[in-house]
Amino acid sequence: MERPASGEVFMSQAIQPAHATARGELSAGQLLKWIDTTACLAAEKHAGVSCVTASVDDIQFEETARVGQVITIRAKVTRAFSTSMEIHLKPVTLLTEQDHVEHNLAAERRKVRLQHEDTFNNLMKESSKFDDLLFDEEEGAVSTRGTSVQSIELVLPPHANHHGNTFGGQIMAWMETVATISASRLCWAHPFLKSIDMFKFRGPSTVGDRLVFTAIVNNTFQTCVEVGVRVEAFDCQEWAEGRGRHINSAFLIYNAADDKEKLITFPRIQPISKDDFRRYRGAIARKRIRLGRKYVISHKEEVPLRIHWDISKQASLSDSNVEALKKLAAKRGWEVTSAVEKIKIYTLEEHDVLSVWVEKHVGSPAHLAYRLLSDFTKRPLWDPHYVSCEVIDWVSEDDQLCHITCPMLNDDKPKDLVVLISRRKPLKDGNTYTVAVKSVILPSVPPSPQYIRSEIICAGFLIHAIDSNSCIVNYFNHISASILPYFAGNLGGWSKSIEETAASCIQFLENPPDDGFISTF
Ligand code: ADP
Repeated sequence: MERPASGEVFMSQAIQPAHATARGELSAGQLLKWIDTTACLAAEKHAGVSCVTASVDDIQFEETARVGQVITIRAKVTRAFSTSMEIHLKPVTLLTEQDHVEHNLAAERRKVRLQHEDTFNNLMKESSKFDDLLFDEEEGAVSTRGTSVQSIELVLPPHANHHGNTFGGQIMAWMETVATISASRLCWAHPFLKSIDMFKFRGPSTVGDRLVFTAIVNNTFQTCVEVGVRVEAFDCQEWAEGRGRHINSAFLIYNAADDKEKLITFPRIQPISKDDFRRYRGAIARKRIRLGRKYVISHKEEVPLRIHWDISKQASLSDSNVEALKKLAAKRGWEVTSAVEKIKIYTLEEHDVLSVWVEKHVGSPAHLAYRLLSDFTKRPLWDPHYVSCEVIDWVSEDDQLCHITCPMLNDDKPKDLVVLISRRKPLKDGNTYTVAVKSVILPSVPPSPQYIRSEIICAGFLIHAIDSNSCIVNYFNHISASILPYFAGNLGGWSKSIEETAASCIQFLENPPDDGFISTF
């Protein structure tokens, strides 16, 4: 192997039974210990002094490794931030394009890390107002009482570096053991770690400390469960006085499989005490931030659009447009991520593809909402993400082709879209109005250098009448790569534009412009 670059370290380990769980898979705790050691050695290679782990960003566990396999861990210093350190670190030398990408991502992650506490507190403050909305439909919900676990470890020399500071990875491994026991008590199945939320070490612990770990399930999300662990350290005197130091808290997300390796669905949680409620809401806020962070930081490639407009296939393109929207709405696994007054936001994650559903209670008749929302030329009146919408062609009574332009975001060029809009009135006895939207390729409107051609995979409105004067307007969007960072930032709590746009839509539908202006589409 080539000699690793400066600040880069490789560790290879053959997985032995002692590293594995009862199922023969590498234990997540052991893996965390190796990751931490490798990262620490890379940091020391760069800094030239002994380093300790200060914080850990979100970690996702994608695959498992088994006894007999060999695992290789590569650690590399991507960026040195001198301002938060006591010593001045030399900047990292960037050689390849990949180095530059990682260097820039490191800055993005740091920004998120620094904002995290504020973002979390804002989301918590916001959600505390809406307990009633979060706690409806709780049939079959269970208490978390039985999942509480406490454990203790004495820090010995092999758990610490030569200065006597406990290795961060060792603490993470202990936390993982306790959290796994807690999760298993909720499902009586085999939990396996899926991700750890970012956390920071609040203070050091050293050889001779007793570490007390307390864990409990905070919330469940279909096939995921969040377990929180709090760690307190006591030296000999503190131990006798019962006065510990809070050294960290971490939140671990597990899946669980039954004996046939099938993912199990966890029961919903019924919070009882004040702590339960706070932790329940905390888990939702963390989930939102995690989702946001995952998609803001992922730099996904746009999948090229493949649907060509063809007038001879008008009926089938229109039907598939409407069907795709209905199928998206009917998917299982939508989860509430925010609820404010008349607006609820749900998200759906499927293999790293994110969809959003915004549910709005509107005080106007469904047929009026339908008429207003199916006229996309009016959309710039209420949606700040639309600058203009020009009808290119009425291809049938219920279908039109439109060219949409969007405002400039950041310093990018503005985006534009060419879409097929298909609408349907309710069938006999039904009460759902549909307005489906998807991008199409139209040779008469090619991409222009002025705009970045963007795309809608599947979006639109399903409008249900409640009574003659009110309705529920459901907006869906299966999010494409080009608008993902925007949505993700919103879900993560860094901006409020989904809510603001929804509120503006309600306002528009309840106080529509003079009807005479509404086109007849
Ligand atoms: P919070 O309770 O606000 O979440 P803490 O840092 O006190 O923050 O605790 C972190 C997590 O550790 C909690 O969310 C909970 O899951 C777990 N935890 C804390 N205290 C206990 C305890 N006494 N028993 C069981 N689990 C606990």
